[in-house]
Amino acid sequence: MNVPLFELKAQYPAVRNEVRAALERIFEAQQFVLGPEGEALEAEIARYCQTKFAIGCASGSDALLLALMSLEIGKGDEVITTPFTFFATGAAITRLGARPIFVDIDPKTFNLDVARVEAAISPRTKAIIAVHLYGQCVDMEPLLELAGQHNIPVIEDMAQAIGAEDRGRRAGSMGAIGCLSFYPSKNLGAAGDAGMLITNDEELARRLRMLHVHGEERRYYHAMVGINSRLDEIHAAVLRAKLPHLEDWTRARQQLVQQYQGRFNDAGLHEHLVMPGIRDDARHVFHLFVIRVKASIRDALRNHLTANGIGNGVYYPVPLHLLECFQYLGFKAGDFPLTETAAAETLALPAFPEMTAAQQDHVVSTVASFFQRN
Ligand SMILES: *Cc1c(COP(=O)(O)O)cnc(C)c1O
Repeated sequence: MNVPLFELKAQYPAVRNEVRAALERIFEAQQFVLGPEGEALEAEIARYCQTKFAIGCASGSDALLLALMSLEIGKGDEVITTPFTFFATGAAITRLGARPIFVDIDPKTFNLDVARVEAAISPRTKAIIAVHLYGQCVDMEPLLELAGQHNIPVIEDMAQAIGAEDRGRRAGSMGAIGCLSFYPSKNLGAAGDAGMLITNDEELARRLRMLHVHGEERRYYHAMVGINSRLDEIHAAVLRAKLPHLEDWTRARQQLVQQYQGRFNDAGLHEHLVMPGIRDDARHVFHLFVIRVKASIRDALRNHLTANGIGNGVYYPVPLHLLECFQYLGFKAGDFPLTETAAAETLALPAFPEMTAAQQDHVVSTVASFFQRN
């Protein structure tokens, strides 16, 4: 039996009719950029994420870049974030000439350890990027309190966390700006690259709306130098067809994780596998179901899963501070030990909404057979 890490084909039947009708609509109208689909999607995402404003853009990576640009971050500035994240979080900072100041993670949630942030603040700190990794929010209340005391804006990288909540507040609605990715494999995925920025701040919304069309205030009158980063009508239409299903899909992910936990326990695997740490006051949307195993066996377990047709992944094997392209920043192995351990011990298992009971059985029994042999 084959169990992919995630499977988009299984999702398509739920939206096929609507996607086809929407494509027909768009091709009849022949308006492909900045049209009614995008506008409607912005309103729908703003409502879903509980913010006043939403601005579509071309990717989650661009959303991060635009967010930092809207806060006028550049050379000589520092931005605090986690080294345990996707590359784009760090690249947005360095691309603008600013310096990432990394803070180690809370090993239970894999998110930025808020207790370590204060020591990283300097007079040059211009923003904090809170990455809601795997679908669970950073502990936002103490982070926002600290940031507020120092007057530092918090950007939420919520590429993996649409619909997640911290103490009942939606991801992206708590900080200054939320950055969404609609990359096809994300919980809400377009038919290619797409992203969005959300905010409750009218002035930031106005700046972002200019920045993503080359800084135009009105056609051909450029008030600032922005970039060209818009969300195409086709993507907006696909996303609009999917959005009404998102809550069901999220609940299916949560249920799969709960079942995994029970079944791994029943199989006596709890001493070998560390389940994801979920904060009491958080709504985890499980973009990824990530467990921990001993570093010494992680790759052997991966090979065993792959040999049995089970998709798996490591998010992310190299922490940002150890990437070749960031060596000029002067970090070295050992600087962020909890992150480095997580990079060596974590393993993502399949937990996509359409996964069948038989597929889950196969994953549980394959993991169990590995530990029976070893
Ligand atoms: C996917 C992702 C991004 C980038 O989004 P793209 O749409 O692929 O550019 C940024 N940050 C995190 C944490 C992500 O998972």
